[in-house]
Amino acid sequence: MTDPVGSLVAARQSVVARIEAACARVERDPSGVQLVAISKTISLELLRHAPSAGLHALGENRVQEAADKVPALPDVEWHLVGRLQGNKAAKALELFSVIESVDSVDLAARLSRLAVEHGRERVPVYLQVNVDADPAKAGFQASGLDAALEAVLALPVLEVRGLMTVGVLVDMPEEARATFVRLRGLAETLRGRHPSLGAGLSMGMSDDFEVAVEEGSTLVRVGRAIFGERPLGEWPAA
Ligand SMILES: *Cc1c(COP(=O)(O)O)cnc(C)c1O
Repeated sequence: MTDPVGSLVAARQSVVARIEAACARVERDPSGVQLVAISKTISLELLRHAPSAGLHALGENRVQEAADKVPALPDVEWHLVGRLQGNKAAKALELFSVIESVDSVDLAARLSRLAVEHGRERVPVYLQVNVDADPAKAGFQASGLDAALEAVLALPVLEVRGLMTVGVLVDMPEEARATFVRLRGLAETLRGRHPSLGAGLSMGMSDDFEVAVEEGSTLVRVGRAIFGERPLGEWPAA
């Protein structure tokens, strides 16, 4: 029998060491980068060991899958990183601590309304931005974000921690850099006009998190580099 905790500890330590090395290259403090382990498709049996392996924030891309896992690990900080349908917004609010994939003003308004109804004090969210204007991807278009922010930041209870993006699938990590530079630049411009926009930048996945950290990521969403390869077809949701 292999040792699941030992393997997770080693995988986490290796990712943390790579984050620290990326921070050192650009003189950043590593405490400014949160590691969220993306656990989609990973069995609950393995995930039960995540907290003891030092993984206290986990992310899922489907509400239904999360519904089976979250109640078993209530002390984990659960992040939703996949597309959220309006009809699952209430369930998502119940399950997740942070919703990273808010991709429309309508969805933000619905989350805010439901959160008020449920007496929530604050709901941390990120706005997903389709920085590369990839027709296959969800997210706000960069050009529409200024107007959208005006509306979203006025909504009660939602706390907009920052912007999130899913980079293009790349062969070489370096190819993702332009996407990350664009997201950071966009965030800086927007914060000049909307000071209450949080400074968070959720960017970087297994293949490119070091480049993302070099470009200012404050939250990396790492799946395969911690849990190993997923079954084919289970790539980051569009
Ligand atoms: C699956 C997923 C990740 C993690 O991808 P890896 O390549 O396994 O690190 C990150 N973000 C989102 C939105 C995802 O769907």
